[in-house]
Amino acid sequence: MKRFDVIVVGGGPAGAIAAMHCGGRGLETLLLEKARLPRYKPCAGGLTAAASRELGFELDGTVVERSCSGVRIRIRGEYRTVTADGPVFYTVRRELFDENLCRKAADSGTVLHDGEGISDLRRDGRKTVVTTNIDRYLADIVIGADGFHSLVRRSLGVKFTRDEIKFCVLCEVPVPEEMVNSRFGDMLQVDYDYVDGGYAWIFPKRESVTCGIGGALSDSKSFPDKLRRFLHMNGLDTGVRIKGGFLPTTRFRQPVYGDGVMLAGDAAGFVDAFTGEGIRFAIISGKLAAKTAQECHERGDFSQEAFSVYQSCCENAFGGDLVYAARITDLFSRFSEFVKSTIVKHSGLLKGYLKTMTGEMDYRTFFESIKRRIPLVVLKRLLLLQPEAEDTPA
Ligand SMILES: Cc1cc2nc3c(=O)[nH]c(=O)nc-3n(C[C@H](O)[C@H](O)[C@H](O)COP(=O)(O)OP(=O)(O)OC[C@H]3O[C@@H](n4cnc5c(N)ncnc54)[C@H](O)[C@@H]3O)c2cc1C
Repeated sequence: MKRFDVIVVGGGPAGAIAAMHCGGRGLETLLLEKARLPRYKPCAGGLTAAASRELGFELDGTVVERSCSGVRIRIRGEYRTVTADGPVFYTVRRELFDENLCRKAADSGTVLHDGEGISDLRRDGRKTVVTTNIDRYLADIVIGADGFHSLVRRSLGVKFTRDEIKFCVLCEVPVPEEMVNSRFGDMLQVDYDYVDGGYAWIFPKRESVTCGIGGALSDSKSFPDKLRRFLHMNGLDTGVRIKGGFLPTTRFRQPVYGDGVMLAGDAAGFVDAFTGEGIRFAIISGKLAAKTAQECHERGDFSQEAFSVYQSCCENAFGGDLVYAARITDLFSRFSEFVKSTIVKHSGLLKGYLKTMTGEMDYRTFFESIKRRIPLVVLKRLLLLQPEAEDTPA
């Protein structure tokens, strides 16, 4: 049986970045991706400036479809435009973006096997035996970056609760480049009037736009019809294929590690509940998993206790953002009209929204700036409402 210091499961941003950093740190690393690359991933392909900075390298020009410097928002029937001096957001095609990251991981010395998915993993003494559709391997450390349906997460017995899961539908609408330029330019379009507690969007790409709707799982059955109506309303082709996907928005209620194992990205539930941004937290958690892997490797300690530091590192790095993103979502869904009219009245809040994308403002500060404009009586009601956790088979 072939032996590795680290086996990374999943070649999305979390896995590719984890593998790139493990390889770069001199760990013998195997990256297993079950699909053949390039593989399709239902995603709007929005990369915030903050996420792009976390990559630590410039993205290849062929990967970036468009650099956007502002957002056009519809809220309470009114349109507001907010812009920055530089790019706040890039759009990418996930199949190319993810393949690019996996190839960079291979360049760092990681062994990359695409078309090879894991079907089982079990502890054997201090090591983990990983079984795939092709072979069996032995690893000191497994990084589970295998997305929402993560087999590695299920092996730890970790489940997402229903209130932690959001849902999005989306489609790619081909539009001639000149029309993308003239109608959308380098602006994202976000519509907060279209769906309760969520939003609809149009992200411009080079020769297409990605449109979608995201919100609560409980409302998701209506999303495909709503998306077609949204396309019609915006004069876009309604005959396109609609796809969907889950977004796990954990609030660190459960451990994201075990003996010899760490979870990263969607497998750990690291998605922003307010915007649905997951790539940024996939990248950061991938880097932190690699750092922890090296520390545990150096100490020769692969116990659950040794990996608990990984959870603390994630909580310190972006736990506050995920928690406050969930609070902002609660504000939006419970006091929708009130919060929206507050935002319409205060243009500074929209600047703050943009700054959360560039990383210049954290969510706590953004939440506080909304909160400051809300009467105490409404806030008290919000603080008294604690959603009940409920298990789901996810
Ligand atoms: C509709 C939609 C739109 C979104 N839009 C955005 C957006 O615009 N911006 C943003 O930041 N986030 C967005 N997200 C969230 C974002 O897509 C995820 O947070 C991000 O992809 C997480 O990266 P990851 O590497 O953790 O997982 P993934 O990207 O899901 O990658 C997991 C990988 O693991 C592989 N895998 C699964 N099982 C196995 C196995 N058994 N063995 C081996 N490999 C396996 C899969 O094939 C996959 O390649 C969106 C999500 C959805 C559903």
